Amino acid sequence: MRVYYDRDADVNLIKGKKVVIFGYGSQGHAHANNLKDSGSENVIVALRPGSGSIAKAEAAGFKVMNPTEAAVWADLAMVLTPDEGQADLWENDLRDNMRQGTAIAFAHGLSIHFNLIEARDDMDVFMIAPKGPGHTVRSEYVRGAGVPCLVAIDQNASGNALEIALSYSSAIGGGRAGTIETTFREECETDLFGEQTVLCGGVCELMRAGFEILVEAGYAPEMAYFECMHEMKLIVDLIYEGGIANMNYSISNTAEYGEYVTGPKIIDDDTKDRMREALARIQSGDFAATWMLENKVNQASFKAMRRRSAEHQSEVVGEKLRAMMPWIAEGRLVDKAKN
Ligand code: NAD
Ligand code: MG
Ligand code: MG
Repeated sequence: MRVYYDRDADVNLIKGKKVVIFGYGSQGHAHANNLKDSGSENVIVALRPGSGSIAKAEAAGFKVMNPTEAAVWADLAMVLTPDEGQADLWENDLRDNMRQGTAIAFAHGLSIHFNLIEARDDMDVFMIAPKGPGHTVRSEYVRGAGVPCLVAIDQNASGNALEIALSYSSAIGGGRAGTIETTFREECETDLFGEQTVLCGGVCELMRAGFEILVEAGYAPEMAYFECMHEMKLIVDLIYEGGIANMNYSISNTAEYGEYVTGPKIIDDDTKDRMREALARIQSGDFAATWMLENKVNQASFKAMRRRSAEHQSEVVGEKLRAMMPWIAEGRLVDKAKN
């Protein structure tokens, strides 16, 4: 597998292009600000009239255009709006307004891989997908580091799509950490699998289950929060830094022995079978179809699940405990007034 670094890219290529960042959310604010700080002077943000993000983008010094106007102006449109609305954005604003020979780019493969968007033949279609949350894409760049990115080319009408994509990746910090060559299919399926079964779905259910079991056994919710949630970061930081062996070096032998004898009883062959089922649902397109259907009914059950998650006792207790640790908020990645 090919991994590209800053030395393999010409960061000046992207500076010569009129780049429009569609959306100024988690990824959008990070890409726009990183591009600007890398010396791209022709970066603007496209938002719908009335969008709550307009004030944030303008406060950061960006010119904001409406999506149709921006589509006409752009050499490169980076689509950082929610996946579920990208097909409509393409139909209504981009398809008939982008100039011949321009490029459209994504940070996730869903719309292209599942054919929700059929791009025009005259355009480059590529992906630069950071392997991390948008707020971290920004914070890592600011401290001189970067989040690894994936690069994939779906259409190479210009003959230059890979060079442009790598230039873009360098400008947002991806070239510092490594830009890995992949396909829209591989990025899309592995990204959905990772977030559903391990990173977001798996981890949150595991922490909540641990919290609930301690509380139902009569232990204090505060104790359960510290043990099963707060400490997760401290453990993951050690794994991030030096792998599982590095974490095992730091924890006690007692903890390490418990890890080996009890861990496989919690995540067992049945769990892995259900993870395989989740992968099959992703690969068949079932998951994407169900998610798009959910959007046709105004995200009714999605919003209900989001509300139930926010109301969970662990969230209430966690908020109270974090208020006693002001240093957590001081270095915060998410500031809803700005990003
Ligand atoms: P987000 O929900 O944080 O932000 C979306 C932004 O788009 C907001 O500013 C919103 O006002 C704007 N918007 C919505 N509809 C619009 C329209 N029609 N025209 C213009 N602007 C519009 O989104 P996000 O989580 O950053 O996701 C963006 C893309 O990045 C998705 O493809 C996602 O899969 C991908 N991605 C996200 C992350 C992440 O960390 N959140 C990580 C990797 C990839
Ligand atoms: Mg994802
Ligand atoms: Mg312990």
